[in-house]
Amino acid sequence: MYFASDNSGPVPAQVLHALAKANEGYAMGYGADAEMAEVTKRLRDIFEAPEATVHLVATGTAANSIALATLSQPFETIFCTPTAHIHEDECNAPEFYTGGAKLTLVPGAPGCDDKMTRQALYATIAAEETRGVHGPQRGPVSLTQVTERGTIYSLDELQALSAVTREFGLPLHLDGARFTNAMVALDCTPAEMTWKAGVDALSFGGTKNGLMGVEAVIFFDPKHAREFELRRKRGGHLFSKHRYLSAQMLAYLRDDLWRDNARKANANCAYLAAGLRQAGASFQHEPQANMIFAALPRATHQRLFEAGAAYHLWDGPLEGDLTEQITARFVCDWAISTVQMDQFLALI
Ligand SMILES: *Cc1c(COP(=O)(O)O)cnc(C)c1O
Repeated sequence: MYFASDNSGPVPAQVLHALAKANEGYAMGYGADAEMAEVTKRLRDIFEAPEATVHLVATGTAANSIALATLSQPFETIFCTPTAHIHEDECNAPEFYTGGAKLTLVPGAPGCDDKMTRQALYATIAAEETRGVHGPQRGPVSLTQVTERGTIYSLDELQALSAVTREFGLPLHLDGARFTNAMVALDCTPAEMTWKAGVDALSFGGTKNGLMGVEAVIFFDPKHAREFELRRKRGGHLFSKHRYLSAQMLAYLRDDLWRDNARKANANCAYLAAGLRQAGASFQHEPQANMIFAALPRATHQRLFEAGAAYHLWDGPLEGDLTEQITARFVCDWAISTVQMDQFLALI
């Protein structure tokens, strides 16, 4: 009964087989392996972006931080939401890799601080760079899709936000740790959710959707590639035995594994949400992808934890008034079974 995160689950057999296959014989290191050339070709096809450049790293923090460092200067500020992973969950890695760029938080609509509005983004950007050489200069905008609260920007919302970044001449980065979960939920193409919506750089997640540890950074303008490569090496994220990263990504893209896993994860979450709703739980946001925040009485949480369930309480400790409603985060991965979810729901 694992709902702690979508990195708790196993790696699909196809990926392990691909690793075993990649393990036969010899290959050039540092990204010069044949499989990396194939990864680039496939991602260019998938994204309908023949010029795009593709770079693999092993963590999302590295993907986001090195991409943002490439898009910014140390005297600039990066615009993101208060709940952004780059703000709350990367231990200042973006500030470190950028050489000191800061983050400026764009407030969300009330009750929805994980999604920027066009108006708030415009106002926040406009308020920066008003002190000449003395203040931070405007830098990239970074959005997260699926957001850290499990919600999704519609294509219209992405277009509206990118219109603002274009008006100010700023680059747009998308943290897509759960990119495919959003894409299948919106039933759109990869291009529609990225460069067609004004995205310049994408952190294309693999790990949360089944890989052992690979994320791709994709630049839709190849002018950024060289600088990213240098920053990745300097930052210690150029893998020597790189073919084992390539092999995972290739297996992910082969036979639609990436889409299938995301569909499964989203469907699992919808199943869990339906059960929770039946049990009287209320949701912070309507379920959209594979992550929900639901309130249950503390006594229920205690029963679930005692039975071995794993998930994160969000707004209160496990001990206290037994009737108090405590919100928890539940994330479903591709592999969790209905048997496990039924067992969990039966406990509720
Ligand atoms: C998990 C996650 C990442 C990547 O985190 P790592 O632990 O560094 O791999 C990035 N962004 C979001 C929104 C995430 O949920």
